[in-house]
This record gives sequence, C-alpha cells and structure tokens, in this order.
Amino acid sequence: MAGLLAARVASEFYDSVTVVDRDQLPDHPAHRKGVPQGRHLHNFLTRGTSILGELFPGILDELTAAGAVVIDNATLSGRYSRIGRYELNRTGKLADPRALASYGASRPFVEFHVRQRVDRLSNVAFLAHHEAIEPVHDRDVVTGVRITNRHNRLTQTLNADLVVDATGRAARTAEFLAGHGFGSVPDKRLDPTWGYSSQLLRVPTGRITDQLVFVNQGRAAPGLLLVAYEHDTWMLAIARHGDYGAPPADFAAMLSLAEQALPAAIMAGLRDATPVDDIAVSHDTGALWHRYDRMARFPAGMVVIGDGLCRLNPLHGQGMTMAALQASALRDCLPDRGSDLPHRFFRAAASQIAPVWASNAANDRPASADRPHPIRRRLSRWAADAVGTAATRDITVTERFLRVRNLIDPPARLRDPALLARIALANLRRAGFAS
Ligand SMILES: Cc1cc2nc3c(=O)[nH]c(=O)nc-3n(C[C@H](O)[C@H](O)[C@H](O)COP(=O)(O)OP(=O)(O)OC[C@H]3O[C@@H](n4cnc5c(N)ncnc54)[C@H](O)[C@@H]3O)c2cc1C
Repeated sequence: MAGLLAARVASEFYDSVTVVDRDQLPDHPAHRKGVPQGRHLHNFLTRGTSILGELFPGILDELTAAGAVVIDNATLSGRYSRIGRYELNRTGKLADPRALASYGASRPFVEFHVRQRVDRLSNVAFLAHHEAIEPVHDRDVVTGVRITNRHNRLTQTLNADLVVDATGRAARTAEFLAGHGFGSVPDKRLDPTWGYSSQLLRVPTGRITDQLVFVNQGRAAPGLLLVAYEHDTWMLAIARHGDYGAPPADFAAMLSLAEQALPAAIMAGLRDATPVDDIAVSHDTGALWHRYDRMARFPAGMVVIGDGLCRLNPLHGQGMTMAALQASALRDCLPDRGSDLPHRFFRAAASQIAPVWASNAANDRPASADRPHPIRRRLSRWAADAVGTAATRDITVTERFLRVRNLIDPPARLRDPALLARIALANLRRAGFAS
C-alpha cells in the first residue's frame, strides 16, 4: 500500500516510475503471499481515506460503486462504539460528517482498486514477480536496485534517481546500511502483548444494522471490531491481552468471547453468521520504528516508507493511514530533490509518527509499568472516566475523540480548554449539579 501511494506521488515528479513486487499481481481482488496480513481485518482510518481521495480523485466513489460499505451519516448512527463502560453518543449531529466518513472493504479489495488507479498512470510501470535484492550504491548515493526475475532467476540492476523501499515488514534497508558502513540504525520497539483473530463472515442481510462496531474494554476483557465489507461480507476481529488468555482459535470461541463485549441485538445477528475461509490468528502486535531520521549518515537517492520505516500494533488499525500520511510528506519533499531529500523526508515522517507512537505506547504499556505511579494512574483513570462520560452525552466531545482516533486531529486537541469545559459540564450535569 505504501509503495502504491509512493508511486502515485513520484509520478508527479519523475519521468518514469517502476513498481517492483515479488508477487504476481492479481487482476481482481485476491489474497497474495506478499501481504499475509490481508487475511486479517483491515480498516482505513478516515484520515487515510481522505488522502486516498486527494491522490486519486473519484476513487472513493469507485470503491462505493464496486461495493465498499460507506457510513457517512450526519449522526453516528450505523456505528456502535463502546470504550470501557461508555457507549459513544449516536444521536447528536456531527459538525463535519465527511471527515468521519468510513469505507468498509477488505484489504485485497482496497489494494486492487488503488493498484488499478496507479496502473492507469501513463508514466508508471509494474514489474511483478521480481524480487528486490539490495540497493546499488556509489559511496553516499544509491543509484538503483538489484532485482531478480522470479521466473528465470536472472538478476539485473534497475537504475533510478530515487529508490523507495516500501517492502513492509520484510524491509532489509537497516541491514543494508549496517553492512555498507553507514552505521547501525537506532530503533524504538514496543513488545507484543495482545493476540487476535480475524474471521470473514457472511451475515443474512439486515440482521446487523450497525456496520461498524468497536468495543475496547481495557486489558482484562476481549476487544472487538466488526466491519461490514463489500458484497455482504463482514469481518470480525477479537483481541485478547496475553495476561488474560489466548486469542480465539475458531468461530465458536469467537462467539463466546463476543458475548462479553456486544449488546444483545448485535450478538443475535452474529449468531446467524456463517464463517467464510479459515480464521486468521496473529500474535504480531509489537511495534518497531527505525529512526533513520537520527542517523548521522544516510545515502542520498533512497527513502523507506510504510511498515519498513515504522510498523505499529495492527490493533490500532493505523498502518495504511500512516503510509498515506508518509506519501503526502514525500510529495511535500519532492519538489526539492537535493541530496538532503532523505533527511527532510525522515524528519517530516518522524513528526507524523511521534504523536501516534506516544499515544500507542501509553495504551499498550504493560500493566506492570503502571505500578510505580498509583496517584498518576488514579488521576488518568479519573480523566478517562470524565472523557468517557462526556462522550456518551455531548456529541462535540464524541466527535473530537473520533477525530483524534482517526488521525484527523493530534491527541493534544483532546486537551483544548473549550473541550475540557464541555467535559466538566457533562460530568456536572450527570452528577445533577448543572442543567
Ligand atoms: C495482522 C495485521 C493487521 C493489520 N490491520 C490493519 C488495519 O486494520 N488498518 C490499517 O490501516 N493497517 C493495518 N495493518 C497494517 C497494514 O497492513 C500496513 O501498515 C500497510 O499495508 C502498509 O504497509 P506497507 O505498504 O509498508 O507493506 P505491505 O502492505 O505489507 O506491502 C509490502 C509489499 O512489498 C512486497 N515485497 C516485500 N518484499 C519484497 C522484495 N524483496 N521485493 C519485491 N517486493 C517485495 C510485498 O509483496 C508487498 O506487496 C495491519 C497489519 C497486520 C500485520
């Protein structure tokens, strides 16, 4: 996904762009080996889809016409969200419903439609079934990449003014740099603490009326996401913290955990669902950020984008949106293609990643890390309760909360004085002190 978006951006600035992928690229939405995570629930945050719409005018209508499930109501009807014991307000009018419009569709479906749009760009060519082996460099400048044809094993060098490593979790740029005298790459890591399972389903039409269901009950109870996809399919994901059990291994186990999370009406619909394909189980919920922005030396002529730069805990559903944000940052950097392009790009990407990383780190922190600060813990619980209470009653608070979650606004916007006043008022009203 990062590679497709980078190709779209690069096509504005270079005469020709080549997208190299080791897979055969299917001419219809289909799973493929190079994207094993595609069998798991994938959902674009709304900031990501709006960037998609900017890069490919009309694509959101194309996705809709092809079957993606759009939720763009003026209220939050059609979405059920519960954080802890707080069900988010669904009746108040949103100030900016377009910004929170969501497009439910499977990963192969979205990727196929984006790839089709990239394929239509006259100066972009695809080289499928070719493996990128290693960048080729002349001292401090990368001048191309060595690739191998997977049909006949012939190896050749593809010369390029700019090489974009978008090989995702398989990226080997850090090893390349260390092996060629550029030094080791500083990194930041978060350990995996959750496991989760995804199951594609068919649900009889109309049995579940909410098309986007999100439940986060903290560490001790299962987390759940249910999304309506194209062609009457649905994707259910259930997560469990490692301290409280293993992720479910089959649909029956999913149903029994879902009972601890869902209201009766949605649960009844889910019981009528039929699994399609096998369940997918993952424990790969850690995070890794290669701090290329902190390297003293980085070769000109090359950048790393997407999961190869920073992979996040997939449970937060941010990866494709981060790839879109990084593609936008690359677009801003490309008009000036000097030798400092990598540094400028990595700095811009770091400023997008840092607040997301910090907020994920706070949420994913192991329970033991909380223990030394009981007062801070009580205060932050009190603050979370106050925000939760307000989000059930005041649509302005709910909308801001969702804008931050969808990476439209930075987390600091939750601390705006005007918002804090609304949160205080909603809590006073609930306690009977204000009308
Ligand atoms: C289990 C799971 C669930 C996720 N759920 C979500 C979600 O709900 N929402 C969300 O936004 N994100 C989600 N993500 C993250 C999302 O998949 C990625 O962040 C996003 O796809 C961007 O990754 P990428 O483009 O860097 O890599 P990928 O999308 O993984 O693509 C890498 C590409 O590189 C190719 N490739 C790899 N090595 C080579 C090589 N040597 N030569 C040539 N080609 C190569 C592969 O074939 C593939 O096409 C999830 C991730 C996982 C693991």
